[in-house]
Amino acid sequence: MANTVRPLHEIIFDHLTRLEDEAGPLATALGTPLRCSEAGMCVRTMSFRALGHKPAALDLSSMVNFFVGHKVHEAVQEAIVEYDSEWVAEQDVDFPEPWHGMISGHADLWHPGIRACVEIKTVGAAAFDIACGIARDFRHKPKPPEGPKDNHLLQGAMNGLGLGAEWVVILYVSKEPVSVGKAARLDLSESDRVMAEWWIPMADVHEMAVRELDRLHDALPYITGSPFRVVPEVVDKGRVMEIKPGTSWHCDYCDYKGECIGENR
Ligand code: SF4
Repeated sequence: MANTVRPLHEIIFDHLTRLEDEAGPLATALGTPLRCSEAGMCVRTMSFRALGHKPAALDLSSMVNFFVGHKVHEAVQEAIVEYDSEWVAEQDVDFPEPWHGMISGHADLWHPGIRACVEIKTVGAAAFDIACGIARDFRHKPKPPEGPKDNHLLQGAMNGLGLGAEWVVILYVSKEPVSVGKAARLDLSESDRVMAEWWIPMADVHEMAVRELDRLHDALPYITGSPFRVVPEVVDKGRVMEIKPGTSWHCDYCDYKGECIGENR
């Protein structure tokens, strides 16, 4: 009997793979080649995606990560919409010219009354701690909070611009809450252990959204031409930075690394 039982992780992997396959490739909100969730991402990655290249198969860690993130998103959206039915989950985002037809998005939550759009991000402990200035390890010195990551802020800013928002809200949910003991040492409240939210006036992030939209607009003919005509660059700490294929940390998280560096060609 024992010999016929498969390791549980294999069963879970197969199940999540099946769910992924059934879901199929994610369409953009309005059939555009680019999506707001790609804000700040390597433009060559965007090109692979826009041209329908097949991404590398997800490993178990990535699948569990996506699955947990998806469930948290759903729970947060349900809670907020149930509290106030003016909130809309998964609001389509379109853009005026000259970006219309190039890019579209979905705001996780949108409130037309207070004109606030919310981006929900589930993040690991390291990203959460950097954003909130938390030093869980007592050997580390606390650093000032850095706030949301560039790409999260950019995505929120772009959605906000498309929707004509007054507020861009980034909500972080940590996938690894700070322990009770560490929270007591760091004087964190119960919610500080696991969530953080930033309400940012649209006026403060409008310019960065326009800059990113213009950058993508300029690169669009190359993006939709061939991935190998696009000079790979990302937005890092507010700056556009060229990266060498396969060598940046961004490449380690890229679904097209094998194809980009020639391994899969
Ligand atoms: S491997 Fe690196 S350079 Fe190539 S597409 Fe991915 S992120 Fe861009």
